[in-house]
Amino acid sequence: MISFKTERIENEWNSGLMNKKLKDIVNMAGLYMKYVNGVGLILTEIFRYQDEQESIYGATTRKRSVHQYWRGVDIRVNNMTDEQANDLLSFLNKVPYGLKHRTATLHDVGFGKHLHCQSK
Ligand SMILES: [Zn+2]
Repeated sequence: MISFKTERIENEWNSGLMNKKLKDIVNMAGLYMKYVNGVGLILTEIFRYQDEQESIYGATTRKRSVHQYWRGVDIRVNNMTDEQANDLLSFLNKVPYGLKHRTATLHDVGFGKHLHCQSK
């Protein structure tokens, strides 16, 4: 089961703008976590505007995020045990991303630990 931190994120999920493969991966992970671990997925971010990117990384940042291209999703992990979060991480990383990056990472960019998932 998949739920959303805010109505904006729910609208983004339903907008049809998200990368199709990413949506498939998150749906698949949602079913996996429901039936194997008994926890729901809560999405905390999908799309990110440039001003939101700058509020995280600074106004002069040249760094662009996959969230700005509808190719990234953040998933809450504080409703899971460490074991469940790591199981979700390894499940998502069964999907190949590319040579230099992974599909999913557990990280904290200053707002608490969460799972970042991406596709292309
Ligand atoms: Zn992210």
